Order: sequence, then structure tokens, then C-alpha cells
Amino acid sequence: MSDQKRVLSCIQPTGNLHLGNYFGAVKNWVDLQSSYQCFYGIVDYHAMTMPYNTKKLRNQSWDLIVDLVSVGIKPENLFVQSLIPEHAELGWIFNCFASVGRVSNMTQYKDKSQTVSEKAKDTFISVGLFDYPVLQAADILIYKADFVPVGDDQDQHLELTREIADRFNFNVGKDYFVLPKTLHTKTPRIKSPADPERKMSKSAGEKHVIGVFAEEARIRKQIKSAVTDVGIQTDGQMSLGVENLFELMRAAGSEDFDGLMSDYEAGTLKYSALKDATADTLVKLTTGFIEKKAEILENKKELKYKIKQSSAEIRKVAQETLLEVKDLVGLMNVKF
Ligand code: AMP
Repeated sequence: MSDQKRVLSCIQPTGNLHLGNYFGAVKNWVDLQSSYQCFYGIVDYHAMTMPYNTKKLRNQSWDLIVDLVSVGIKPENLFVQSLIPEHAELGWIFNCFASVGRVSNMTQYKDKSQTVSEKAKDTFISVGLFDYPVLQAADILIYKADFVPVGDDQDQHLELTREIADRFNFNVGKDYFVLPKTLHTKTPRIKSPADPERKMSKSAGEKHVIGVFAEEARIRKQIKSAVTDVGIQTDGQMSLGVENLFELMRAAGSEDFDGLMSDYEAGTLKYSALKDATADTLVKLTTGFIEKKAEILENKKELKYKIKQSSAEIRKVAQETLLEVKDLVGLMNVKF
């Protein structure tokens, strides 16, 4: 295996790629491929933690794979979590090294469980939703990843991953697992255009996400109606809505950024000009992606074959770790 440092990151197949995913994580994934050994997972086990449609999940995974390859992820770096069952097995082992107290404190669990009404909680909040940060620790540690490029919504989960690794190492009396570090992009949190006080997120609903492959007219409409006058910050700082538009422009590499920022500082910025420039930059970026996606879709069968192959290759790394872990914790570690 290569002696390059390892990078691991994952994404849930719960809908198409949006600009929050892209600027917060995936753009970085693309760039890291030239300097690191990269493992990027479609984590379909995680997509089962909230109520979901069993008839759609598999297609959602394939659709997301097409999206990721269209924006520049190499197929050989991609794997599907459910094709590598060792993740779930290591997750079980980690369940026995993670404390209920720490896992209960995860804010994502609290946030997501709040989306379900009090009355429905007993039926709809699954143990999987509670436990998924432990499975996430397994996703990362099974590849002994050095770096995990994610948005800042994942910081707390990374902290838990390091704690589990530390506790495991202490219990087996060996520095077996590397403690992985987070890698943030310059845009760790893209906000919703419709409500800039919340992050851009699929779970918030359609109007809160701008799709990476959305049609030009839709992108222009969403930016035109982007909220600019909420989230006014104290001490005269820019409102969260305006900041978000500048963030999107900067992240997408707009040449108009500096000029419009000077206008803002001089107090002469017209929001319509900011919105037009933001929409232009985003449309320019996404048009290239849409073209690439059309090409890939012509050969979807070949891509599916490649992903099954890459998952099988990546699985070998996971199997090796799991055998070592079973040995260290006193389980049977026979290689069949
Ligand atoms: P998810 O869609 O929750 O599976 O997230 C996939 C990746 O996208 C993770 O690394 C998240 O941290 C990142 N991400 C999701 N939403 C945003 C956002 N609004 N801003 C920045 N990063 C995000």
C-alpha cells in the first residue's frame, strides 16, 4: 500500500449533492486526491437512521456516485459502505468502547430527533440514529485515516472518534489507532439562501438547498429571492444573508468578489448587483458539472462496475484492520 497519508470522508445518500456539501466538503475531496491516499464513502447504513424509503435508497446511492464523479471524484477512491460490512462489525466493537453519556451529548442526534414530534418519538427515533456517530468512528478508523475533510457540523463527531480511538488504544495497551484530524475548507458552513440563520441542509427542505446540478433558472430564482435582511449581526457586521452570498461567490472563484466587497465597504453595494454576480458565478460553475454528468450518464453501467471493483479493493484494507482489531480485543480472528 502507498505510504501517502490517508484521507477519509463520507456522505449520506439522502438526496442530490448541494452547494453546502460541495463547498463544505466535496471540493476539498477533489483537490486532496493529488496528494493523499483517499477513501470516500457513500454511507448508506447511515441513511437508514431516519425514516426512509426502502425502494429508493439503492438508487439514491447510485445517483450520488454519479454526482460525485461528475464533480471530479475518481471512481477508484469511492466505496459503498454496505459493500464493506466490516464497518458495521467494527461499529459493534466500538459500541463496547463508547459511553452512553458521551454519545447522548451529540448535537446532531438532538437536532435530528427534534424534527420528530414528541408523540412520534417512541416509534420513530431509532437506536441507529442515536448510535450512528459510533459507526462513523468505525468508518474513519477502519482505514486508519490521518485526515477527515468535513464541514464544521462534524467537529463533535470527530472529537468522539478520537475519544473512542484513545479509549480503545488504552484498553488494548497499544497505540493502535491513529487519532484523526479534521480538515476544514475555507467554507465550513454554507447557509440556506431562504433562511441564512440555518445551514444549507437537505433535511430542512427543498428551498433551503441549491443543487449542484440544478437548472440555471432555478439557481437564478433562488439567489434572486435569497434573504438578505435577517441575521443582522451586532457591531455593524454584515448580515448573515449577505455574508452567505459573498461566501458563495468567493468559494466559486468569482472575479467580481473584490469589487463588490469594496462597494459594500464604501456603503454603495446594491444587493441586486451582488445577487446577479453570485448567480452568474454559480451558473458558470454548475454548467460544467451538468455537462460532465450527461457524459457519465451515457456510461452508467461502466461506472457501476468500477464502483463495485473499487469497493472490493478498499474492502481489503478494512478487512486487514478488522482482523488486527479482533486479535487485540480477544475475539476469534480466523481468516477464511
Ligand atoms: P451529509 O450531507 O450530511 O452527509 O454531509 C456530507 C458532507 O457535507 C459533510 O462533510 C458535511 O460536513 C458537509 N456539509 C453538509 N452541509 C453543509 C453546509 N451547509 N456547509 C458546509 N458543509 C456542509
